[in-house]
Amino acid sequence: MSEVYDVIVIGSGPAGYPAAIRAGQNKLKVACIDEWKNTDGSFAFGGTCLNAGCIPSKALLESSELYQRAKDEFAVHGIKIGALELDLAAMQKRRASVVKVMSGGVAALFKANGVTGIQGHGRLLPGNRVLVTGPDGAEKTLEAKHVVLASGSVPVRLKNVPHDGKYIVDSWNALEFDSIPARLGVIGAGVIGLELGSVWRRLGSEVTVLEALPQFLPMTDGAIAKEAQRHFKKQGLDIKLGAKVSAATVAGGAVDVVYTDAQGEHTLTVDKLVVAVGRRPFTEGLLAEGTGVRLDERGFIEVDEHCRTGVPNVWAIGDVVRGPMLAHKGKEEGVMVADLIAGQFGEVNYKVIPSVIYTAPEIAWVGQTEEQVKAGGRPYKVGTFPFSASGRARAMEAAQGFAKVVSAKDDDEVLGVHVIGPMAGELIAEAVLAMEYSASTEDIQRTIHAHPTLSEAIHEAALAVDKKAIDGINR
Ligand SMILES: Cc1cc2nc3c(=O)[nH]c(=O)nc-3n(C[C@H](O)[C@H](O)[C@H](O)COP(=O)(O)OP(=O)(O)OC[C@H]3O[C@@H](n4cnc5c(N)ncnc54)[C@H](O)[C@@H]3O)c2cc1C
Repeated sequence: MSEVYDVIVIGSGPAGYPAAIRAGQNKLKVACIDEWKNTDGSFAFGGTCLNAGCIPSKALLESSELYQRAKDEFAVHGIKIGALELDLAAMQKRRASVVKVMSGGVAALFKANGVTGIQGHGRLLPGNRVLVTGPDGAEKTLEAKHVVLASGSVPVRLKNVPHDGKYIVDSWNALEFDSIPARLGVIGAGVIGLELGSVWRRLGSEVTVLEALPQFLPMTDGAIAKEAQRHFKKQGLDIKLGAKVSAATVAGGAVDVVYTDAQGEHTLTVDKLVVAVGRRPFTEGLLAEGTGVRLDERGFIEVDEHCRTGVPNVWAIGDVVRGPMLAHKGKEEGVMVADLIAGQFGEVNYKVIPSVIYTAPEIAWVGQTEEQVKAGGRPYKVGTFPFSASGRARAMEAAQGFAKVVSAKDDDEVLGVHVIGPMAGELIAEAVLAMEYSASTEDIQRTIHAHPTLSEAIHEAALAVDKKAIDGINR
């Protein structure tokens, strides 16, 4: 007889594991299946985010930033150090141990919440059954009242840029380099390309980023993108816009990358080439014939706003469904689905999902850009505040960038908040909360912010919306 669960979750990434945990908290009998394999062959829960994405990239961003600050900024603070030495092996060891602690934490959380974690491949069969193939090839069929598909995404590969994992690599490989490439090429100036480019630039690589689009960071507010481009250029990231890569070949231990821009065809030679042109939904081997689960033309599992697939009691969440490919978006979908399954209230506010780029300076935003508001035709007002006027940012020697608030003229609603500067990813949480509660700009203006903190920049930008900034010149 097959085992019967209330809920089976396929995939234990940041969408799947929260779904399983919340289902456990809701006193449902739940199993979560994953087949993840690390580069050393070991198994881990946590998906892309914990093992090959958010966490290892942030570990290396932190280490490389400390190195760069020690090299270029400590002297300004009056701290003299002798010859600075970089130990990449130790840096990578720390990265690996951070990842191990975090993915091990998922197993511990499963235990604490009564979730049965299963290592193996899960395949949805018709009739809410799941075929599990274990690492030894043994098969068993599980039954569930509800199945949640959370199989995530994988990197997009380019046809004429053949991935070999050594010279032409993806983001995961680029997080595990054991030496610093003298010349690094990155295809794609998106979030992942910029973060990885920053890590290796700080550690000494000469970095060239090739971006096919003519515009830099088109998803961000225009003023923020302009400011970011200026900083990245100063840091030595050579970002070539409108550069379309047509081929890459490995020869003599290097990669020749052919690209075309407005000036014509060029060849760039690098020691490693990272392809960071986006990710695609992963559904290989997930759906047996006849399940009725539909994919759209781009390969995403079709769902409604509550992540229902249209097949009774089959749900799908995270990167494998529409919406931004972000860990926190998947997490909220997982929690929503587990609560709906338990008969409780569940909803995701897709209008208020923050985005963060963990470069230096950091970039973070929520809501609409000024360009989007303008295009929508609603009369608006804008306030900005530079970190150069922030006492805390000055004290930190991190006074770059600014905060910007875009608000409606008619009812003062906060429509978008954009930050480029120190700890922007942390600062944006205030704006997310404000927008979640439909705050007016005046609500932020009347909220006391501790002094001296970076958060005062958001307060002052909100005041500047009505030309009431105290610590900045109102324009
Ligand atoms: C380098 C990098 C940096 C990133 N940084 C950030 C960041 O800072 N912030 C952020 O929000 N997002 C970041 N992301 C994106 C983030 O990692 C994803 O949005 C997130 O992991 C998606 O979660 P998920 O649970 O949908 O899928 P995944 O994390 O991809 O997990 C899916 C899981 O399902 C398993 N699986 C798939 N099919 C099956 C099957 N049939 N049977 C069993 N198991 C299966 C896989 O093994 C995997 O463990 C980053 C991504 C990368 C690559």
